Amino acid sequence: MPLLKGTLAEALKVRGVSRREFAKFCSTMVATLALPPQYLAAVADALQRADRPVLVWLEFQDCAGNTESMLRSSNPPVADVVLNLLSWEYHETIMAGAGKQAEAALKRVVQQDAGKYIAVVEGAIPTADGGVYCTIAGRTALDIATEVCTHAAACIAVGACAWDGGLVRSNPNPTGAVGLQEAVPGVKVVNLGGCPHNVANTAAVLVHYLTFHEMPALDQYNRPLFAYGRLIHDQCERRAHYDAGQFVEEWGDEGSRKGWCLYKMGCKGPDATYNCPTVRWNGGTSWPVKSGHGCIACASHRFWDAMSPFYKPLPKVPGFGVDVAAEEIGWGVVGGVAALTAAHAVGSVIRAKKGNGDIQKEETKPASPQS
Ligand code: SF4
Ligand code: SF4
Repeated sequence: MPLLKGTLAEALKVRGVSRREFAKFCSTMVATLALPPQYLAAVADALQRADRPVLVWLEFQDCAGNTESMLRSSNPPVADVVLNLLSWEYHETIMAGAGKQAEAALKRVVQQDAGKYIAVVEGAIPTADGGVYCTIAGRTALDIATEVCTHAAACIAVGACAWDGGLVRSNPNPTGAVGLQEAVPGVKVVNLGGCPHNVANTAAVLVHYLTFHEMPALDQYNRPLFAYGRLIHDQCERRAHYDAGQFVEEWGDEGSRKGWCLYKMGCKGPDATYNCPTVRWNGGTSWPVKSGHGCIACASHRFWDAMSPFYKPLPKVPGFGVDVAAEEIGWGVVGGVAALTAAHAVGSVIRAKKGNGDIQKEETKPASPQS
């Protein structure tokens, strides 16, 4: 069976994606990538001319939540165009083929399109006992990932598990699960952390790659800066209440009804970076903090261990008094939000080193919070 290739323009025409939807998609991508508006025409032109790259999507130790996040995107242009943007040749959950037929498709891509296809990995990779805790068609996940990613033009890890092992790796990690980069250190992986990933960011990475023929600028975890470069706390619509010392004290109280800050209910927004507040979910309508739940820092390194318990503020740090500062900050007693956030950061590092085995947490702090 020949590989399904051709230009994106041809694919969009065949699939009935209108010019208007395509234009809306390009405009969303330019905004997500934080590019100046004048790049819109260049992105649209590049995408229409581009040959659809072949993509293989591997699933290992996972819940398929990142696949669900992509398929259930309620932003029709993004979901439609992402599905048409690429020539999907292997994806266990959505492909029609199964068994030997499916494995033959993967083998064909690796042989015929070596150095040209994009490999996306979802889920952690077990390394204990020879990797026997995740096998597909008689091969270990480690073996498959090594072969497929080594021959790919680009590798993308979607979701927390593929990035750093995620929930599967949380203590005590009996299967020795790790993320893709650790499992296959010889390849360069772009990590799209989050539990799950946000398909708008994944689409934006692919659009950047197709338009500029390189991946976007990355941080120290190889996460795109456009998506992971800013503190959630600095983008949050409840921030004015934090600054004013107005906190929800218990679920359903007056502050909760008035949309006050969720810090005391465990929100980790001051210690997490992501563009969740701007890209949002459900077609861009909302995000968890807007709808009343604190951020659990799902896009932060080893968040299952480093950021729990999720419903309590990060613990008090000797000499800083995080909880006291949270109450006092609205009264102007401490020296600004930057001091509080510094306490969060120190608290996280101390706690990570004390209580979570091998975690060496170093969340990105690109800029001090605005005071
Ligand atoms: S602590 Fe959470 S809810 Fe409060 S302002 Fe920061 S991100 Fe928003
Ligand atoms: S609010 Fe925080 S935990 Fe929730 S999806 Fe956004 S980044 Fe993840």
